[in-house]
Amino acid sequence: MAKTYHQPLGGNEMPRFAGPATMMRLPSNVEAAELDVCFVGVPLDVGTSNRGGARFGPRQIRAESAMIRPYNMATRAAPFDSLSVADIGDVAINTFDLKKSVALIEEAYDTILEQDCLPLTLGGDHTIVLPILRAISKKHGPVGVVHVDAHADVNDTMFGEKIAHGTPFRRVVEEGLVDPKRVVQIGLRATGYEAEDFDWPRQQGFRVVQAEECWYKSLVPLMEEVRAQMGDHPVYVSFDIDGLDPAFAPGTGTPEIGGLTNIQGIEILRGCRGLNLVGGDMVEVSPPYDRSGNTALLAANLLYEMLCSLPGVALRN
Ligand code: MN
Ligand code: MN
Repeated sequence: MAKTYHQPLGGNEMPRFAGPATMMRLPSNVEAAELDVCFVGVPLDVGTSNRGGARFGPRQIRAESAMIRPYNMATRAAPFDSLSVADIGDVAINTFDLKKSVALIEEAYDTILEQDCLPLTLGGDHTIVLPILRAISKKHGPVGVVHVDAHADVNDTMFGEKIAHGTPFRRVVEEGLVDPKRVVQIGLRATGYEAEDFDWPRQQGFRVVQAEECWYKSLVPLMEEVRAQMGDHPVYVSFDIDGLDPAFAPGTGTPEIGGLTNIQGIEILRGCRGLNLVGGDMVEVSPPYDRSGNTALLAANLLYEMLCSLPGVALRN
């Protein structure tokens, strides 16, 4: 079957404030099997420890994506000319049962990946990266990870539970889903339960770049080092919006001061171009705390930047 290169519905065909409420106004009635890349929502927030609301993330990110046009004016990336992309909708999680939801998410991603479709996820809280990486590693083996976050998310338990939004990066190491020498965590900061909280990931072999190392700087040189660290190994990008400062992204559940700028977020994702990316997510957007709508707007545009950095995206001259 010939591949269809879906284009986002343009603002001259249908006003930006109308038309389909899908990611970038792409088609939605498409099977993953027909696509190179899918946008997929995971509306789960029952893994959060403080403020909830990330269940509304996928819907609001889609709403704020309505203005994104197809071509990247900085990099000249033309993702919709070189890849078949659509929005396949949301995973039907069980909001009354976190563990069942984790199983449902893994199953949904198994199906997407079996069809050779690369998932870009609209979260949802960070718990979802565990089932996603369970599915991803079945296909690609232990992957490298570019993890942007204020938090390391390596707690052993939270309130006695092994599965929660602050534990996935310990679970993925224990389960062998990642190659620890190819995990970089960027933006970590603030306060901990122990002064050694960020030593555990370092002991596993992660590169931990705390927010203070990023202050006042371009992250272009860091990303050059990250590309060297990853080589041509499969890499997953997990972007917790709270990695950015609450001045830019207030609509999130566990905000921390002194974070990355929106521009540094763009530099990280543009710096992922050239990596062998196999999937990515944007998590922890909480619309009820996003009074301006800017957090979801930022998340939508960062997902677009993630798309532009995927292998196979052509740059226009
Ligand atoms: Mn997180
Ligand atoms: Mn976080």
